[in-house]
This record gives sequence, C-alpha cells and structure tokens, in this order.
Amino acid sequence: MTVLDTTIDLDAVTRALRVRLRDDQVRDSLTMCNLYRRDASNMTGRAGIVCFAESTEDVQACVQVAADMGVPFMARGSGTGLAGGAVPPPDAIVISTTKMNKILSVDEVNRIAWVEPGVLNLDLSKQIADLGVHFAPDPSSQQTCSIGGNVANNSGGPHCLADGVTNAHIHGVEVVLPDGSISILGGEEPEPDGLDLRGVFVGSEGMFGVATKICVRLMQNPPDVATMLMDFESVAEGANLVSDIIASGIVPAAVEMMDQLCLIAVEEFIHAGLPVEKAAALLIEVVGPSAGVAADVERICQLASERGVGAIRVAADDAERALLWKGRKSAFGAIANIMPNYYLHDTVVPRHKLAEVLDQIYEIVSRHNLQVLNVFHAGDGNLHPLILFDGSVEGVFERVHAAGREIVKASVNAGGVLSGEHGIGLEKRDLMPLMFTETDLSAQADLRRAFDPQLISNPDKVLPNPATCGEIHSAPEGAWI
Ligand SMILES: Cc1cc2nc3c(=O)[nH]c(=O)nc-3n(C[C@H](O)[C@H](O)[C@H](O)COP(=O)(O)OP(=O)(O)OC[C@H]3O[C@@H](n4cnc5c(N)ncnc54)[C@H](O)[C@@H]3O)c2cc1C
Repeated sequence: MTVLDTTIDLDAVTRALRVRLRDDQVRDSLTMCNLYRRDASNMTGRAGIVCFAESTEDVQACVQVAADMGVPFMARGSGTGLAGGAVPPPDAIVISTTKMNKILSVDEVNRIAWVEPGVLNLDLSKQIADLGVHFAPDPSSQQTCSIGGNVANNSGGPHCLADGVTNAHIHGVEVVLPDGSISILGGEEPEPDGLDLRGVFVGSEGMFGVATKICVRLMQNPPDVATMLMDFESVAEGANLVSDIIASGIVPAAVEMMDQLCLIAVEEFIHAGLPVEKAAALLIEVVGPSAGVAADVERICQLASERGVGAIRVAADDAERALLWKGRKSAFGAIANIMPNYYLHDTVVPRHKLAEVLDQIYEIVSRHNLQVLNVFHAGDGNLHPLILFDGSVEGVFERVHAAGREIVKASVNAGGVLSGEHGIGLEKRDLMPLMFTETDLSAQADLRRAFDPQLISNPDKVLPNPATCGEIHSAPEGAWI
C-alpha cells in the first residue's frame, strides 16, 4: 500500500491503535476528524483518526501502526500553521501533541531546558521567567503555537532579527522516526560531533518524523531595553531606514513595520494613540547594557531624521512597551475591524529592495481591485502582505489567489525567497520549482526518502508531487502563474 491508496481500512487501523493506546486517546468520530481537518491556512484535508499522545511511547505506537499498515501520519501541534503543513493527508492518523505539554528539566547553569513538543511557546518563557532567561523565538502566535510546531517550521518572530530563528535555539531533538524507531538528533551541546541531523530536522515540516522531546537554548534577559515607534509620510522612507540602521552596524532586537491600514485596524483595537494619519510606522527595539542602548537610540534617531521621520515615541515604561507590542502582535486579529477575510502571504526580499517590492505589492493588489494591509518583520526583509476580502463576494477568491501568486513572483524576482517563516506546506509546494532546480528538488527528495522510505510522514507537503515520486519536472519560469 502507498500513501496515495484510497483503500485504507480505517476500522482496522483504529483497532490496531486501540491495542496500543487507551480508547479515549484514539478518536475517529466524524466530528473529531472534522475538527482536525485544517490549520490556520485556508486549506482543508481529511483526517482518518485523531490520536492524543501523552508520551514518546504513545507517539511511537501510532507511528509503528502507521508504518506496519502503510498509512500516512501527521504530527500536529496547535494548528496555527499558515501554510497548510498540518492539513491532514487523506485518511491520515493525526498525532496531536497538545497533551505532551510538560517542561521536563531546566539546567540553569548551561542555559538549556528539555521540553515536550506540545509546550506553548509563551508558556515556556513565562515558566522560566524567574530565572532571568527566556526562549528567544517569539512568533506573533506565541500564546497558542507549540514548540514542536516552531521546530518543524523553523519559526521566526519579531525578536529573531538579532538572536536568529528557531534553528539557532534548538540543541537537540528526540524524534520518533517514520519507521517507529527513536533517535536523538543533536544533544545538549551546541555543536555535537558528526553530521548536523538536528539542523536537517529543524524546518522539515513534519516530513522526517515526530519530535517528542526538545532541548532548547535559553537566553539571558537583557539588562536594558528601549522600544521606539517612528512614523513616516511614506512607506519607502520607513523601509529605507531599515537598511540604513543595519548598514550603520546596529542590529536591533526587532524592527517591525506597519502600514497605514494596519495602524488604523490596530488602533481601533488597542487605543494606543498610534499615528493613524501616517503612511507607515516602524517599531524598533534595542537591548543590552544601558549605555549601549542609549547610544543605539541616539544613532537610530539621527538616521531616522535623515529619512524624514515624523514623530518618535519612546516607550516610557514596561506598560507602554507591552501596549505597543500588543498592537503589533494582534494585528492579524484586528483586521476583523476592516474586512471579514484575509489571505496572508509570507515572502522574503533583500532588505534594500523592501521599498521597491512594497510598491509592486500595492500596485498588484489594487489592479485586482482588492485591499492590502502590510505588517511585517522589516529587519529580516520578511514581508507579510495580508490581502483583505469579503469571501461572500462572487469570484473574489480567484482575484485573491491571482494577486497572491503575483506577489510571490515579484518577491522571488527581486532576489527573495518563497517563505520566511511560515513554511512551504501545501500552500507553496507547487511553487518550489520557481526557486529550485530539478537537481535541488531531487536532492531534497532523496533526503526525505532517507528519513522516510515509505513516504508516510506528512506526505504530499513541501516537495512538488513529481519530486516525491522521483520524476521531477521544474516548471519553466513563470509557468505556475
Ligand atoms: C496570528 C498568527 C500569527 C503568526 N505569527 C507567526 C510569526 O510571527 N512567525 C512565524 O514563524 N509563524 C507565525 N505564525 C505561524 C505559526 O504560528 C507557526 O508556524 C507555528 O510555529 C506553528 O506551530 P503549531 O504548534 O501551531 O504547529 P501546527 O500548525 O500544528 O503544525 C505546523 C507544522 O509542524 C508540524 N509539527 C507540529 N508538531 C510537530 C512535532 N512535534 N514533530 C514534527 N512535526 C511537527 C506539522 O506536521 C506541520 O507540518 C502565525 C500564525 C498565526 C495564526
């Protein structure tokens, strides 16, 4: 049987799972399967059975049943992924890690902790706060997303500019491989001997097995912090300042941009006195010893004045800083104030091309008679255009998807990449040939087969279908548009 067979005997699979797990851990009702048929993207799949694992052994039992019966399986954290990574393949066993939510150990001396994959990102930092340390990757979804999902998607966040994305904060991962065996990739040392299989696993989007324990790096909380909100008459001025700051040798902890529509939506939500009449605002944070922070603030303000900055607001205290960050991190939710639906893209462009590509995005979206709101990790050149629409309008989805594809193409043409942090998943799988040659895709497919010869671990994600079958056909330039 292969993963493409539609003849999976789900009753037999359920019986086999119930031999290894308690009945209440194995759920196959239509209601349950429907609840797990999608993530936070706009795509849906079809779960066959949902299993609630409570331990590595539970995950191993699920994977062994899947491997023995040739059934696809998929790990699922919190389901906040935006690229369809946790959309189940037809009749898959969905292995939920939400009940594997314990911090197993904290080593204060070596600044590491072992955690289960279902631990929520923000819960980890909250629970270790009294030690003066934190887990640096901070996706805007950090209240709800899991560390396992962060590892699988190599997630980023506003404060990953200086500290690096998830890959820089994972020392080791215990994994149930797709054949049901258990292996530890990496370890507690930052640079263990041998091949960096840990590095291969981080960002593998669930294709190489299930992470069951994760050794994370803990970062010292900075002694001082300054958070600035700067507004601009044009998006280009703000975007160009981002490059100026990095070129000056300062790497802030975070540099985020919100355009006018975003400022309007967020202000209605948080009432923080945001500059809603301006074209854009940058939220910039610098951290470190007080003297260094003061010097960085002064230099950044000087650079900003050369770019025609309007008002500069420096958060007076922790409460004001928290309010500004609340605005940034709740931007997606605030969109409900403007339009019922949005479609979010995640691309990266070289930082110095931000202004140019943003111009193209506004042009593309208005040509399709739609609205766009931009809120993004400007320091990383990581764009997040949110195309706004009303799903009840006939034909609107076609226009939204057409505009989205043009935006992705404009980003890649500017020397950028398909995804900065949300992953490829299902959403961008068929766009991979835009960036990768046949040889690249073939090498990636070989690596996938080395971990998963049966192709049962989250199949049909990331690599275009022909790649997974060994017959790769790169699309000619623009053929997918
Ligand atoms: C409002 C909002 C804001 C967001 N902001 C950001 C942001 O700033 N930065 C960012 O990077 N992302 C962001 N995201 C996307 C998303 O939150 C991240 O990708 C997150 O890491 C997904 O975690 P999850 O637990 O929800 O994973 P899921 O959606 O459940 O799964 C995502 C992928 O990980 C795999 N997976 C999950 N657990 C495991 C495991 N234990 N072992 C192996 N594979 C596993 C799944 O199979 C799937 O392929 C945002 C999403 C939303 C809805």
